[in-house]
Amino acid sequence: MAKYAAPGQPDSVVTFKPRYDHYIGGEYVAPVKGQYFENPTPITGEVFTEVARGTAEDVEKALDAAWGAAPAWGKTSVTERANILNKMADRIEANLEMIAIAESWENGKACRETLVADIPLAIDHLRYFAGAIRSQEGSISQIDEDLVAYHFHEPLGVVGQIIPWNFPILMAIWKLAPALAAGNAVVLKPAEQTPASIHVLMDVIGDLLPPGVLNIVNGFGVEAGKPLASNKRIRKIAFTGETTTGRLIMQYASENLIPVTLELGGKSPNIFFDDVASQNDAFYDKALEGFAMFALNQGEVCTCPSRALIQGGIYDDFLQQAVKRTEQIKQGHPLDTETMIGAQASNDQFEKILSYIDIGRQEGAKVLTGGGKADLGGELAGGYYIQPTVFEGNNSMRVFQEEIFGPVVSVARFTDYDDAIKIANDTLYGLGSAVWSRDGGVAYRAGRDIQAGRVWVNNYHAYPAHAAFGGYKNSGVGRENHKMMLDHYQQTKNLLVSYSQNAQ
Ligand code: NAD
Repeated sequence: MAKYAAPGQPDSVVTFKPRYDHYIGGEYVAPVKGQYFENPTPITGEVFTEVARGTAEDVEKALDAAWGAAPAWGKTSVTERANILNKMADRIEANLEMIAIAESWENGKACRETLVADIPLAIDHLRYFAGAIRSQEGSISQIDEDLVAYHFHEPLGVVGQIIPWNFPILMAIWKLAPALAAGNAVVLKPAEQTPASIHVLMDVIGDLLPPGVLNIVNGFGVEAGKPLASNKRIRKIAFTGETTTGRLIMQYASENLIPVTLELGGKSPNIFFDDVASQNDAFYDKALEGFAMFALNQGEVCTCPSRALIQGGIYDDFLQQAVKRTEQIKQGHPLDTETMIGAQASNDQFEKILSYIDIGRQEGAKVLTGGGKADLGGELAGGYYIQPTVFEGNNSMRVFQEEIFGPVVSVARFTDYDDAIKIANDTLYGLGSAVWSRDGGVAYRAGRDIQAGRVWVNNYHAYPAHAAFGGYKNSGVGRENHKMMLDHYQQTKNLLVSYSQNAQ
């Protein structure tokens, strides 16, 4: 067991600055209106830094810098851009522990996740897009004997990106890697709950990019996010966050007729068929672990398997074991490497989850374990901790239909294959989902029948850079990850060339 020292203590691996400005044109720039907001750690509730409170004026400054840098960056060779992405990955890797602990401190998530998942995935993502851009090719078609169509990929120019707080570094890199690889300049707005992690990251990688290619404007949604997303000087807006905010982003973009990608909420079904039944083997154990994944990242994952659907034949046994497994989840100090679940990211989030637990009780869902805040005491007494909670109920309940974004799973029974698919698809969302079965045919068929952008089969919460990720229905528009993401940051130039000497 190891426990990292809290930032501010002499032996901590990370030192936050007392104040973070915007990062514009390769340097830190104070906010035009001179205002800052306090940034607390959810681990103890104490304020550890303050951050520039951005407004439309700051967004304009960032866009000036981005427009200044975009033409040259767009013409940089793909080899050079790929080399820079690889150097960014190397630098992050060399500073992995520091960035991981900074992110845990700011977000409240267990460092066991940031150290082995969030930051390594971000590194891999940069390397993947460094490779993807170098392997990308245009096309040539011979339309007729003398007429040739050439297709080139061109960057869009200056793009806006707005990210949430649940995976601050990974969400930033998911968006930055393809955008920068494709030759765009970026203005990114971090979530107001987790801006400092992004600046810790910028301190590590900022100098590798030409000034103005990547700019960060901090601040709140309406004050800083809206002026960016609705700006006439962006050529695309990429957003990850709530479905309601996603609707607004699309409205802003429609005024400017620019493309949008949206990664939004979810209410992902996690389906366990009868043949999962215990054979005292590793597969059964893996399925139980798959159930417990609802608590990963404190449930603050858009793909949280927040609806567990279990077939009648194994329902009682499996659920009993699953509750037991849930009770073994170790909750504690997020900087302790043994901790499996840490603090919710903010007080707002903490209150929202508790209110949903009340709603579940009121509508008649049965609490099988958890069901309230976790009182960890001591230095954690002021932090935002919630017990992993298992509800039993039915799919018409609000706790089955609305995104809670906390360590809460709602469990229902199904009778047969058709019933499972019907319940799984009875949701406004379509982001994540999973099927657990020993029968490859059932798993394949269910995977195709579930209306979701990602169906994990006999696994959950894996996010390789080269597997497309995104939502059906109210869960979003477009995809992230995979080289197809480059299409979202490029436009197609067609040259239609006649080689004929004859008049037409
Ligand atoms: P949110 O929509 O409140 O905020 C997300 C970002 O949008 C923040 O940076 C915020 O400042 C900004 N914002 C808010 N209002 C805005 C406006 N009017 N104009 C422009 N920007 C605005 O969401 P959240 O609570 O921070 O994040 C949690 C949500 O994100 C959950 O619903 C979750 O499912 C979703 N999420 C989805 C994915 C995915 O890939 N699909 C990944 C992570 C999180």
